[in-house]
Amino acid sequence: MAGVLVFGDTVGGELTPVSLEVATAGAGLADALGESLLGALIGDDLAVATREFRGGFSSLYLVEDKHYRPYTAQAYLNAAQKVIEACSPSVVLFAHTLGTREWVPRLAAHLDTGLVMDCTVLAAEGKDLVVTKPVYGGGILGEFVVRGGPRMATVRSAVFDPSSAAVATEVVRLDVPVPAPGRVTFVDEATVAAAGGLKLKDAKIIVSGGRGLGGKDNWHFIEETAAALGAAVGCSRPVVDSGWVPSSHQVGLSGTCVTPDLYIAVGISGAVQHLAGISAAKTVIAINMDREADIFTRANYGVVGDFREVLPAFVERIKQLRS
Ligand SMILES: Cc1cc2nc3c(=O)[nH]c(=O)nc-3n(C[C@H](O)[C@H](O)[C@H](O)COP(=O)(O)OP(=O)(O)OC[C@H]3O[C@@H](n4cnc5c(N)ncnc54)[C@H](O)[C@@H]3O)c2cc1C
Repeated sequence: MAGVLVFGDTVGGELTPVSLEVATAGAGLADALGESLLGALIGDDLAVATREFRGGFSSLYLVEDKHYRPYTAQAYLNAAQKVIEACSPSVVLFAHTLGTREWVPRLAAHLDTGLVMDCTVLAAEGKDLVVTKPVYGGGILGEFVVRGGPRMATVRSAVFDPSSAAVATEVVRLDVPVPAPGRVTFVDEATVAAAGGLKLKDAKIIVSGGRGLGGKDNWHFIEETAAALGAAVGCSRPVVDSGWVPSSHQVGLSGTCVTPDLYIAVGISGAVQHLAGISAAKTVIAINMDREADIFTRANYGVVGDFREVLPAFVERIKQLRS
């Protein structure tokens, strides 16, 4: 067994940005292990994704068939198993997504091998694969030596820079018969309407509100501040749990990990699960009534005060500066 195999992630035939991040993680490991780097894509209509999957792969394995849309876990794990049989890698990496959370553990069970999910650091120590992931709700970082053959890991998004290496010079198409429907039959697909406004993942500025806002009626303070700055709107988990905004706005361990230049946290206490989502933010400003709030340990700048007084004055000043 040799080689680091990176599975790209696609949605509706389009390569998702995290695929290029996993390629970067894979390239670092392949270098450290002195092994080749291989890529793989499973799905329908992969022509564009094939051109966009940069990683410097020596070979890119394609399993392409219209039967991979809609997604079913059984079909994906069957295809991945065939790719692994074809190239016998020593390490296999996947993006940590809703889909891989379903099918990759089953693949590991089929192959009777070791898997660690949601990794933020991957390192080769000698020939060992040592990975780090947040555990116990993100309060502690756990380090694991992955055993088995091949050793497998899923990689958290927004941790590694996207690869800009060349696309693969060799594309190997594998003809994998799609398995007959198993115990799960696809019936219908419902698309959740995307939340309006800027996407959190791409945003350079994010204004985020927490439980300290006190209720949905006060959410306009966050939206007005975001609009004044041309920023995306984020929030902490209780805000989503209380139904003030859709879950697509949630920042943190169980939400989105963000990478803005500026993150403004309003009425957010700074729980580790929230901080896990803003570790890559360049500058953090916190506005909180409680001067002892943990968010101030992460913030570059802090305002101790009531958001009802601070935000309108802040918005007014921005408008003055812009006019
Ligand atoms: C497995 C797991 C996963 C989790 N994932 C996430 C996640 O992804 N994202 C996330 O956010 N949380 C997550 N949580 C929840 C997390 O532990 C915290 O409960 C949550 O982040 C707290 O949200 P908050 O800061 O908005 O609320 P609180 O902790 O209640 O803080 C509210 C803050 O508002 C301040 N405040 C009150 N009134 C005002 C005012 N008028 N003006 C200014 N400030 C004011 C208070 O001083 C306080 O600091 C997770 C928890 C678990 C167990």
